[in-house]
Amino acid sequence: MTLSPVVDKPVDITPVVWETIKQKLKEKVRPVNFNNWFKPITHGEIAGDNLVISVPNKFIADWINDFYAEMIEKEAHFLLNKEVKVRFDIAVEQLAPASSSSTPGVPQTFQRKISAPFNHKYTFESFVVGKGNQLAHAACQAVSEFPGGHYNPLFIHGGVGLGKTHLLNAVALSALRRHPEMKIIYISSEKFMNEFITCVQNSRMKDFRKKYRESADMLLIDDIQFLGGKGGTQEEFFHTFNELRDSHRQIVLTADKLPKELPGIEERLRSRFAWGLIADVQPPDFETRVAILREKAAIDKISLADDVALYLAEKIESNVRELEGALIRLNAFSSLKGSLLTIDLAKEVLHNQFKPTQEEQRMTVEEIQKTVAEYYQIGLADLKSPRRLKNWAHPRQVAMYLCKKHLRLSFPEIGNRFGGKDHTTVMHACRKIERLLLIDNNLQNDIAILEKTIV
Ligand code: ADP
Ligand code: MG
Repeated sequence: MTLSPVVDKPVDITPVVWETIKQKLKEKVRPVNFNNWFKPITHGEIAGDNLVISVPNKFIADWINDFYAEMIEKEAHFLLNKEVKVRFDIAVEQLAPASSSSTPGVPQTFQRKISAPFNHKYTFESFVVGKGNQLAHAACQAVSEFPGGHYNPLFIHGGVGLGKTHLLNAVALSALRRHPEMKIIYISSEKFMNEFITCVQNSRMKDFRKKYRESADMLLIDDIQFLGGKGGTQEEFFHTFNELRDSHRQIVLTADKLPKELPGIEERLRSRFAWGLIADVQPPDFETRVAILREKAAIDKISLADDVALYLAEKIESNVRELEGALIRLNAFSSLKGSLLTIDLAKEVLHNQFKPTQEEQRMTVEEIQKTVAEYYQIGLADLKSPRRLKNWAHPRQVAMYLCKKHLRLSFPEIGNRFGGKDHTTVMHACRKIERLLLIDNNLQNDIAILEKTIV
């Protein structure tokens, strides 16, 4: 007879706890909700005063938190005779494969609903509306409320970093909240193409068509311009588009240009893109930039002083992504240095990133011009005049050279400051001075003295 060693194992009551709570919930919530939200959750564990539930993504966590946390906590209290708080352990979201095979760790029900990871920060609530994006914003809200209506397809276009992807995500999240049963596919056109190619290679076109033409209730494709020149994918997309639109299923597309300006896209597609509503996103104006900074700061719990917000909004004009990036960098710096996020810190950290303001530029160009004019004893106006007298042309070329070397200005910008000269004149001047400097000791001397004065 063999004796097995006695191992003093702690009893893991956790699975029992969660299964028991689940049973209770099953009695309390409607079957469809139970099946959607709770049935697939197989793991919950007690950690101190928390009941940690494993869910596949933040969306589900938020949903359960908003609608069911109290109920769960009550059941847990009853069962354990102590108060616990519901917490979530969120698995990394995974892209559902084209076929119906399951992704490990992600329950099937969730896969059906969430075909690609949404970015849960990109909601309508966190989107700041301004003059440049109000039509796009309103249209996106309309299609998430009434999908498949008048604005089908909805085509959003505009430059990089202006919120197209944000809006597309917001449509998906908002539609899903309103219509939890909807199968929403959100995908970039590149991924769409890759999936298509994989399916062609593996003879799985049936799966592909089933996914996009039959089961999708809403199709959101980001950056459609990447389909330019991809004939096979465009052909497939053409049929997908027709089938969805004919059966009043919503399509939303984004691109960096208007449909008619998209290179390499077939005419029949371009014209279809314009069948619904076209809305653009433009760079935000100053007030909107300030509002966006405040919104981002609030979301990330960064305390942002007014003067810092105004400074950033003034310096970064074209692109919201850069605006956000500057804020994040600043915040990282201030916490690394353990100092407050002040305007001085902002200037110190971000100084090199910015072009000097027009004011700063004019002042410095003028300084250089004044110094050079005095040195060569000619009038300031002569430096900018169109006349080619040698006495004036040489100092003018020196001044242009110094502007190019010391200010971050382009040739045309310098030309403008010298009485509207052509950029080729400035280029010629700079090259000439550079060449002369190699051989002309007097000029080397002149430049050295001038640079001492201006720099
Ligand atoms: P696009 O897809 O047009 O290149 P994104 O949607 O990726 O731009 O936006 C870039 C960043 O700027 C994102 O972090 C997004 O949240 C933010 N953003 C853009 N526009 C706005 C806005 N109006 N309000 C709030 N955030 C915005
Ligand atoms: Mg984008």
